[in-house]
Amino acid sequence: CGICGVVGHRPATPVVFEGLRRLEYRGYDSAGIATLNEGRIERRRAAGKLDNLAAVLETQPLYGTTGIGHTRWATHGAPTENNAHPHGTSRVAIVHNGIIENFEALRSELEAAGQVFETETDSETIAQMVDFYLAAGQSPRAAAFATLRRLEGAYAVAMIFAGYEGLMIGARHGAPLAAGFGDGEMFLGSDSLALAPLTRRIAYLDDGDCVVITPEKAEFFDRNGEPVERAIQTTALIA
Ligand code: GLU
Repeated sequence: CGICGVVGHRPATPVVFEGLRRLEYRGYDSAGIATLNEGRIERRRAAGKLDNLAAVLETQPLYGTTGIGHTRWATHGAPTENNAHPHGTSRVAIVHNGIIENFEALRSELEAAGQVFETETDSETIAQMVDFYLAAGQSPRAAAFATLRRLEGAYAVAMIFAGYEGLMIGARHGAPLAAGFGDGEMFLGSDSLALAPLTRRIAYLDDGDCVVITPEKAEFFDRNGEPVERAIQTTALIA
């Protein structure tokens, strides 16, 4: 299971797909990618191998320079295309590794508030909660932070938002996530291996951190929402 994301200036799908390839070693049962195409969220997903996702992308290409991708190791909900990540609504798309322990309570709360779920996953709760806050008029950043505060369990998450090209928000709590620094583009990945061909300059999030990424910079926040600095490491050259 793994996460890869990019905001920048080149087509996101091949970058994200290559990142997912490099995360295959972790094991997975399905995969998917979402991008912003002229501000709108579009996604492609497939059960099984990445080759299946590649086949879908072949016939239904995914355009845009902001994108997130996921390889799933199902914990809640069968490994079907419909339960594959990214999850979301017309406003937000998210990918998640880990388990949201309190998802049932959050889901009931959101359903009572009118949110309509499409999957059996714990992860969709994140998307629906962000959507709820966005629909109430909050900014992506406020909606993401408010949602992250409610989550219990282990997660690495990446989110993109309709109408916000070049914005990606990531967070980690008990599952690894790293930001990669490119030249006019930025990346998120589960580990340095995912990011290796893209950049040698990475900064791991500390546990509880959140990061707001644009093509030019990454802003880190700790578990209390306070701005923090995270050291950029230079990873070894990989042939
Ligand atoms: N718990 C989530 C799911 O079953 C994420 C699993 C993963 O880490 O890939 O969809």
